[in-house]
Amino acid sequence: MAKYKITYDRANCIGAGACAAMSPNLFKMTGDGKADLLGGKDISGGKFEIEVDENPIIVEVAKACPVEVIKIKNLETGADLV
Ligand code: SF4
Repeated sequence: MAKYKITYDRANCIGAGACAAMSPNLFKMTGDGKADLLGGKDISGGKFEIEVDENPIIVEVAKACPVEVIKIKNLETGADLV
């Protein structure tokens, strides 16, 4: 099963909440009004990253973000999915 890399630009999250509603196991709204990427590694610049198993839902989550701060790469093919 391929792995996806999620890169989340938390600094530019506007707190719309779609990600946390669709995928509460990966995104959680926090006290400052932004979402946290649960288990995400801080890669500096307000960005976080995590590798997860291939999952079509996460692609839908990324597409649902109104400010497009969630990016998904298929690590097997190298393709940017979102
Ligand atoms: S959907 Fe996008 S803007 Fe809304 S909380 Fe999630 S990351 Fe932030």
